[in-house]
Amino acid sequence: MNRRDLLKLGTLVTATTVFGATATSSKEELKSNETKTVSKPLNNKDRVIIIGGGYAGLTVAKNIRLHNKKVQVIVFEPKNIFASCPYSNLWFGGVEGVKYDNLIFSPLEPASKYDFDIVNDKVISIDRKRKVITTLTDSYEYSLLVLATGIEYDYSTFGLNDEEAKEVYAKFPASYNGGFEQLSLKKNIEKFKGGTFVITVPKGGYRCPPAPYERAALIADYFKTKKLNAKVVILDPREKPAAKAKGFLDAYNTLYKDYIEYRPNSNITKIDLDKKTIFFDKFDAKEQEITKESLVFDDANIIPSNKASKLLLESGLELTAEGWGRVKAPTFRSLNDDNVYLVGDVLGEYPFPKSAQMAHSCGIILGEQIARRLNKEDPKEGSVFPHNVCFSLVSKDSGIYVTHEAYQDVDGSVKVKTELFQDIDKKTFDSTKAWYAGITSNIFE
Ligand SMILES: Cc1cc2nc3c(=O)[nH]c(=O)nc-3n(C[C@H](O)[C@H](O)[C@H](O)COP(=O)(O)OP(=O)(O)OC[C@H]3O[C@@H](n4cnc5c(N)ncnc54)[C@H](O)[C@@H]3O)c2cc1C
Repeated sequence: MNRRDLLKLGTLVTATTVFGATATSSKEELKSNETKTVSKPLNNKDRVIIIGGGYAGLTVAKNIRLHNKKVQVIVFEPKNIFASCPYSNLWFGGVEGVKYDNLIFSPLEPASKYDFDIVNDKVISIDRKRKVITTLTDSYEYSLLVLATGIEYDYSTFGLNDEEAKEVYAKFPASYNGGFEQLSLKKNIEKFKGGTFVITVPKGGYRCPPAPYERAALIADYFKTKKLNAKVVILDPREKPAAKAKGFLDAYNTLYKDYIEYRPNSNITKIDLDKKTIFFDKFDAKEQEITKESLVFDDANIIPSNKASKLLLESGLELTAEGWGRVKAPTFRSLNDDNVYLVGDVLGEYPFPKSAQMAHSCGIILGEQIARRLNKEDPKEGSVFPHNVCFSLVSKDSGIYVTHEAYQDVDGSVKVKTELFQDIDKKTFDSTKAWYAGITSNIFE
C-alpha cells in the first residue's frame, strides 16, 4: 500500500493519527481534484474544518468539542510540530531557565483528549459554492469552515524580488513564525562576535506589535552580558515603537544606552545582500524632509511585512484594504459568507492586536458560538467580547505590559479599551511566566 492509499484510508480515522502531506502532486492533479467528486463527503454528519493549527485554530477546535459532542472537527496543519512565538524572545535573549523545549508542543494531546482530528496537510483551495476544501492530497466537504491561517511574509515592501526574498529569508530569518527559523536566529545570535546587529520592524499591520522591540532589548541584554562590542540597531518605519513606546524607549535609554540605537521614520527601500547594506528613506519630521540613507550590518534579523494567506483572496472572501479578513461585526463570520469564520491574526475587521492571547480569547468565544449554531441554539454572537494581555520583557528579569478589552459601541462597531503599564517592573517577569504556562496548558493539556 502506497502513501496515497494510506492517506485515503487513514486521515480521518483517528484523532491520534497524523500523516505527512505529500508535496509531489502535480498542478494538473490538483486542478482536476477540484472538479472531481469530493473524496471525503459529509455523510450526514456536521463537519467543521479548521485551516491552521496555531493558537487560534486549536482553541476553536477544543471549544467546539467542549460544547458539541456530535460534530466532527478537523484541523489542517502543514507543520508537524507546534513551536510557539510567544516566549521565543526570552529564549533568544538567553533568559535563565528558558529552553527551546518550552516552545514546543504536540497538538495530538488536545486532539485525543477533546476528540478532534488533526491532519498534517496544507489546504490549497476553497470552493465556497460547493463547500469543499482541497488539500495537497485530498478534498473534503464542510458544513462550516474556520480560517485560522495566521500570517505570511511579504518581502516586496522592502523592494526585494522573489529570489532576493528567499536569500534574505534563509540568511537573516525573520523568526516571526515558529520552527526552523527560530533555530537559525538563535544560532546567529550565539555566534555573533560583535559589530552591528540590525532588527527591522515590519511596515503595515503585523503580528505582536511589541515583539521586535522586546527582541531588541533581550538580544542587547545578551550581548551586554557577554560584554561584546556590539550594537543592536532597530530600523522602524514609524515615528515611535508601535506598542508600549514609552516603556521600550525608557529601557533603551537607561539599560542599553551603548547597546541599542533606535532609528525611527526609517523606511527600507532595498537590501544589498552582498554588501550587507540596508538602504532606507529617513523622514525628518522637523524639516519635513526625506533623505536617502544606508546602513552596513554584520548580522540581521530581517522581519518583513506580514500579510494574510492567499487563500482568502483566491476564495473571494472580503478583505480590508491591507488584505486581512473582513467579518460581520460583532461576529467572526466572513462579511460575504455566513459559513466561513475568520479568527486569529488573519482577522482584520476589528482593532484587535494580532496576539496569541487575542487569538485564544476569540477562539474560546467562537468555538462555543459554532457549537451552539450546530446544536440549533442561538449562537449568541456579540454577547461576549475578547480581551488581551501582552507582557514584554525589557531585560532578563523585568518588563512592561498592556491590556486590551474589546466592547461593542453604541453605533454597533467593535472597539478596544487599552491600558498601558509602562513602568519597568520585576513582577512582570513572574506574570509573563504565569501567563505563558496558563495559555499553553489551556490549549495543550
Ligand atoms: C516573537 C514573537 C513573540 C510573540 N509574543 C507574544 C506574546 O507574548 N503574547 C501574545 O499574546 N502573542 C505573542 N505573539 C503573537 C502570536 O504568536 C500570534 O499572534 C499567534 O500565533 C496568532 O495565532 P494564529 O492562530 O492566528 O496564528 P499561528 O499561531 O501562526 O497559526 C496559524 C497556523 O496556520 C497554519 N496554516 C497557514 N496556512 C495554512 C494552510 N493553507 N493550510 C493549513 N494550515 C495553514 C500555519 O502553519 C500555522 O501553524 C508573538 C509573536 C512573535 C513573532
